[in-house]
Amino acid sequence: MNTRDIIAAVQAVHDALLANELQIESLDRAIGDGDHFINVRRGCEAIAAMRGELAPLVPAQAFHRIGMKLLSTIGGASGPLIGSFFVAMGRALEGVPVPDGRQFARALAAGVDAIRSRGKADVGEKTMLDVLIPAARLLVRLAEEGAELETLCARLKEEAERNMLATRDMVATKGRAHFLGERALGHIDPGAKTSQVALFAVCDLLTARAAS
Ligand code: ADP
Ligand code: MG
Repeated sequence: MNTRDIIAAVQAVHDALLANELQIESLDRAIGDGDHFINVRRGCEAIAAMRGELAPLVPAQAFHRIGMKLLSTIGGASGPLIGSFFVAMGRALEGVPVPDGRQFARALAAGVDAIRSRGKADVGEKTMLDVLIPAARLLVRLAEEGAELETLCARLKEEAERNMLATRDMVATKGRAHFLGERALGHIDPGAKTSQVALFAVCDLLTARAAS
């Protein structure tokens, strides 16, 4: 995994989010304030605009730069959360010029931990963490076990999809949706949806590359 891979992954996530625009928009309109899609799209565009400046950096620096940019670009609750995810990934990869799968998995888990401490939220609160925490745990476990990329991606996708769907039956205790109480029932959390879409995009990119 090098910085070129990171740039390609962000591009894949960007494309996948655009393809899911209507659903993400309507979810945040239903239980938030309707800006979640715009927020994440703005983040992707900001990273795309940094491509030239990121290319010569090692992953740790690239993630740090991306995180700092997102902290100042994306608004809403998700800006600081997603920004701190990347900053923490950068920190976890310091001194590792070309991270292998395990190091990358651990860095991703550190990023998810940063979201958890910044957002003071955990599994079951109807947020992006419902997808991200179990996905990070599974990724670390499978990477430690030395799972094949294809198996790993298939398992991750399955887990992300299930947990994204499970937010439909949750009452929110964090974020704007918590003001709605039980009225949020029946709606998937927008952040959980974007997290699932992003994970799918990266998994699909990696498996397509490995197959070619
Ligand atoms: P805002 O809620 O400020 O409008 P966004 O619409 O961009 O910001 O993001 C909303 C998403 O952020 C929610 O769907 C949820 O997944 C996530 N979120 C909100 N609060 C928290 C929190 N404290 N911890 C983790 N994720 C959160
Ligand atoms: Mg919103």
